[in-house]
Amino acid sequence: AEGASKCYRVTVLPGDGIGPEIIRVAVDVLRLVGSQEGLDFEFKEMLVGGAAIDAVGSPLPQETLDACRDSDAVLLAAIGGYKWDRNEAHLRPERGLLDLRVGLGVFANLRPATVFSQLVDSSTLKREVADGVDLMVVRELTGGIYFGKPKGFGINEHGERIAFNTEIYSTAEIDRIARVGFETARKRQGKLCSVDKANVLEASQLWRERLTIIGAEEYPDVELSHMYVDNAAMQLIRNPKQFDTIVTNNIFGDILSDEASILTGSIGMLPSASIGQSGPGVFEPVHGSAPDIAGQDKANPLAQVLSVSMLLKYGLGQERAAERVEAAVKTTLDRGFRTGDIMSYGKTLVGCLHMGEEVMRSLEASL
Ligand code: ATP
Ligand code: MG
Repeated sequence: AEGASKCYRVTVLPGDGIGPEIIRVAVDVLRLVGSQEGLDFEFKEMLVGGAAIDAVGSPLPQETLDACRDSDAVLLAAIGGYKWDRNEAHLRPERGLLDLRVGLGVFANLRPATVFSQLVDSSTLKREVADGVDLMVVRELTGGIYFGKPKGFGINEHGERIAFNTEIYSTAEIDRIARVGFETARKRQGKLCSVDKANVLEASQLWRERLTIIGAEEYPDVELSHMYVDNAAMQLIRNPKQFDTIVTNNIFGDILSDEASILTGSIGMLPSASIGQSGPGVFEPVHGSAPDIAGQDKANPLAQVLSVSMLLKYGLGQERAAERVEAAVKTTLDRGFRTGDIMSYGKTLVGCLHMGEEVMRSLEASL
């Protein structure tokens, strides 16, 4: 352990729906593992999303962004709900999330797809394919065809309407996401698969070239492979166990990370991280604010707890603490506790807070 010298500042954004319930559990877990590992945390809770719209008329108040910028990591729950669905664009909760990402310059999105052996039967895959799946998709988040210019509508030489977008990446944009991919692989099993469409797209050719150069020069210890995106989409279903870390561009990552997450079959178990060059990352569950079960103590807090594990590992470099949190989640599943979304025959159905208490019990028992 590091000793009790440094105090990490974590901005806590509960947001809407089940957000406040699950983030309370996650903060308790972070505080506990911190006390066990000699890490000090200072938490600052701020408004975001619908809650911020109601309180101060903006989905991302300036003081929330300032607090995030001023911290070592941001722990976000979820935002949105029926109440704000008809608002105009600048008063939508989702706007707050986009502005937060831009405001913090987070250009890499990390989404693991882990099939916990205890939950293997909730996977969409056959048991023998699903058991042991543990992969991470690293997606470029701020470039590529979603942002490239020129884009728009026009008229071609035959007088027909056309529409166009531009897939564009600079070497600087590729290099920085490549490094996140390699660093991530290094913290995992040391295998990086870069996914592109270099047989058709120039942007993918530059992508592949830069990945190869950076791999050879800076990460000779990481095993790099390349795969075309159409094949990758197929391999993810056919044999997902072959993957450790996948790095890919914005649009391919959008599609593949959703595909990968559905392999696990349980939305309440999936965390994510969005990180930038320096500065704080944003750590949040993949699922939304689940307004249909909000305020009923039914939500599964484990995606939020696993986001704490990612915060420790990828945000603060505290790998030991991160692994202990993940192990505590597994132990809690081993001990038979389940929230409704992952419930199966013979297991013990618990609410959100109770699940949190059991995770902390597992953490305490693991010392
Ligand atoms: P988004 O807000 O990202 O658009 P969404 O509205 O598509 O998300 P979610 O809010 O994730 O979807 O909810 C989808 C379904 O999954 C809902 O029925 C919700 O109750 C359930 N769900 C989501 N998260 C959890 C959780 N942590 N625990 C239990 N059930 C959940
Ligand atoms: Mg929603």
